Amino acid sequence: MSNVKWKIENDERGCSEFPVIDSEITVIDSFFAALLLTQLVECLTVCNKIEFLDNSETIYQNCKCMKIKNKKIIIILSLCVLFIGILYLSLHIIAAFLFSPNIMPFEGRHHAIHTKIRDYYEQIDFIFELSNKFQIIEIGTIEYPNYPSYQMYKVSYGNPNNNEAVNLLFMCGLHGNEIAPVYAMKDFILFLDSIDLMDNINIDFYYIVNPFGFENHCRFNIANLDINSDFVAFNTQEANFFVNSLRNVKYTGVYDFHEHGATEGFMLYYYLSKNKTKALSIIEMLEHSNIPLENEFVDYRFFRAKNGLLQIPFYGRLFSLHFMKRSTVEIYFVESLKTSEVFCFETPYYSSMPERINTHLLIMKSLIGL
Ligand SMILES: [Zn+2]
Repeated sequence: MSNVKWKIENDERGCSEFPVIDSEITVIDSFFAALLLTQLVECLTVCNKIEFLDNSETIYQNCKCMKIKNKKIIIILSLCVLFIGILYLSLHIIAAFLFSPNIMPFEGRHHAIHTKIRDYYEQIDFIFELSNKFQIIEIGTIEYPNYPSYQMYKVSYGNPNNNEAVNLLFMCGLHGNEIAPVYAMKDFILFLDSIDLMDNINIDFYYIVNPFGFENHCRFNIANLDINSDFVAFNTQEANFFVNSLRNVKYTGVYDFHEHGATEGFMLYYYLSKNKTKALSIIEMLEHSNIPLENEFVDYRFFRAKNGLLQIPFYGRLFSLHFMKRSTVEIYFVESLKTSEVFCFETPYYSSMPERINTHLLIMKSLIGL
């Protein structure tokens, strides 16, 4: 697994400390390691290494192929590595079934310590005070036995009578422990309320899609399910309410605001090549504001963030859709609703809360040309 780190800020305690080893990935790793070892049977490339101390650049010269004489050892080593990988996966699945019978192995990755540290209704109070530039629509009540119920709302901005207006969708709080976007979106909504109505834009805000997670600082919902990857099976009430409430309109843009615990810079996910120009312009805008950009993070096994940009092409999406029967909300919009512009924004936990809020706010404003 690529160097995944997990850090939780002092103000972000709660139930989000889950182990970050994905068993399905570990067995793939061991397969590749075994493959690499078997290559040694053919050839071990040995080069003369020259290092330049000034700029610590390394140059390789005179590469030779050295044959390994004892091929048996390599083959046995490869088989051992593969065996350990498969053993690990088997033990993981057995342990998941034995010790957590009511949760799926994929989802059972966090400790169910629930401590309420925020109040959902207090946080959404402001939406009922907004002017008539906004409409508040109740989209469902989340009800799980033995837990408090939560009303979910959609906050729609704009002139509903203007059929020519561009329709956008902004969402945040799918993962309850990612809170900077929640604070930024409140600021953004209040900002929109404070300026003249922008007649040519309608925005549907889905503000805090995971209310329980927000209150308890959990990535997942009450049922320990990741709402964000529930857009194939629709096992969560939250994902169902969300999808059922989508107006019969074609969204020009869908923007999902998140945070990341394994990155040190900002990251923007996009899914369609035609969105690259717009994605680059957002990155450029952030660069001007001195926001650090991510260059290390690898997702979907093969795709690495470069200068804050991470494209998940169609073959990457196929992996999660068809092999894992899971899909993120962004992939749902790209694949099912053919939305032409879909982005997911991720600020790193490593930066300070004001910087993260500021980053999201800058992006929200830039998306409507401000
Ligand atoms: Zn997230």
